Amino acid sequence: MIQAASAIINGKAVSGDGPEVALLNPTTEEKLTGFAEAGADLVDQAAQAARAAFRDGRWRNKSVEERQKVLRRIADALEARTDELAEIETSNTGIPITQTRGRHVGRAAHNFRFFADYIGQTAGQLYDQAPEHLTFVRRQPVGVAALIAPWNAPIALGSMKIAAAIAFGNSCVMKPSEIAPLSIQRIVEIIHEAGLPEGVVNLVNGRGATTGDALVRHPETNVVSFTGGTVTGRTILATAGSLLKPGVMELGGKSANIIFDSADYERALDGALLGIFTNNGQQCLAGSRILVQKSIADRFIEEFVARAQRLKIGSPFDTSTNLGPVITANQRDRVLGFVDIATAGGGKLLTGGRKAPGFEKGYFVEPTVVLAADPRAKVCQEEIFGPFATILTFETPDEAFAIANDSSFGLVSYVWTEDHYLALRAQEELEAGVVWINTPMMRELRAPFSGWKDSGVGAQSGRDCEAFYTNQKTVTMSRHPLNLPKLGK
Ligand code: NDP
Repeated sequence: MIQAASAIINGKAVSGDGPEVALLNPTTEEKLTGFAEAGADLVDQAAQAARAAFRDGRWRNKSVEERQKVLRRIADALEARTDELAEIETSNTGIPITQTRGRHVGRAAHNFRFFADYIGQTAGQLYDQAPEHLTFVRRQPVGVAALIAPWNAPIALGSMKIAAAIAFGNSCVMKPSEIAPLSIQRIVEIIHEAGLPEGVVNLVNGRGATTGDALVRHPETNVVSFTGGTVTGRTILATAGSLLKPGVMELGGKSANIIFDSADYERALDGALLGIFTNNGQQCLAGSRILVQKSIADRFIEEFVARAQRLKIGSPFDTSTNLGPVITANQRDRVLGFVDIATAGGGKLLTGGRKAPGFEKGYFVEPTVVLAADPRAKVCQEEIFGPFATILTFETPDEAFAIANDSSFGLVSYVWTEDHYLALRAQEELEAGVVWINTPMMRELRAPFSGWKDSGVGAQSGRDCEAFYTNQKTVTMSRHPLNLPKLGK
């Protein structure tokens, strides 16, 4: 296991003198490692290092081809260390190794390759309608990006932020979640081993309210990219806004997964289980509100519950495990606290709702399924962020869309139907930034990933990241010597 650092500044691990933060293995509850929190002074050093790297042009002034080469080397280096990174991520988060090794590390490498390809194809604008002038619009990097990542998929989400920020020539300071910073720390080390100049990517470790807040407020950070909870996102965007720093916010969700009776039944059942139980249920895009049409509801619910009961709970290092522990004891208690909330709101517990039996150690939660009575009930409205599915039934498509949209969130929606006219209507009606039709989860990096309503502000995609991480510059030139009025002559 790697030793946690307080910070990585100019490519070197640095120790802080803030309070000790211990990192626990959620499977064994044992201490993995710990670090002294980076306080305002280390945040300052990291931001100044990023600014110095930006100012002297050691990265932004490299040709696009040179930057592409480094980004692709980073991707190759991440892939070459798939086992190591997956093991770190699984130890720190409890996400099954089949998922960290199978998808998360590959996604991190893909993020760097995607942006390497993207920057080879960008173009500016030219306006030549004015007879005397030519005007062109170009984009230049914004400077230093403050990047703040959550704990639920650090490798995949943190690497996306770093890749997007540096591809366009920026420098950055990354703050991972204080609970799960180890994989991102290792990625930052690997980035340097792959040849990125020092100072371009810096890292600070610490709690959100201290280290994160200092980073958002630091005068040398120009933009803030945040992924995390809606409450935190509001605080960060308010701070950034007061300093006139643009922010992109990817926040929480309570996504509807609508199963029509015209669905390919087996596939919809598979998709519904994957939608809620992947990543131990800790996903912003979880299909956590399952809406089933009444004509198939009895059979669907019975089979969904039976399959949920058969999920293999266990060590996330065991390749046959479907469900590992949730991230912390607090998170376990919060998730289980929704059982009483659900029943108090008229819901019926169909399975689960307890600490998983047979585990003396580890924050294991049984796969939990609740049949809710009222779409307005708290269990249907709040993000639970664990292996906890809430089921509702509906009669008609209009009713399904109304229930789906009756939420403060609008991150993603899932639709299962073989009736393509109904699918087209669904994507029209649903209030969400992403609609997945007959597929559980497909992240197309070329297309925007953006939350509507309380699920976010701004978007991430090739084009959206280009817009976010660059400033526009309009340049106008005269086409020939102008006859200017000679004032004072
Ligand atoms: P939090 O909002 O608690 O924290 C996210 C990050 O922000 C952490 O690094 C945290 O640090 C930091 N932070 C907290 N307070 C501040 C502050 N005042 N200033 C600066 N930084 C701060 O989210 P979680 O880590 O609990 O992640 C789970 C949430 O993330 C869920 O709501 C989930 O839906 C959402 N999410 C959204 C995604 C999306 O793309 N829309 C994707 C994945 C998750 P620390 O941990 O040290 O407190």
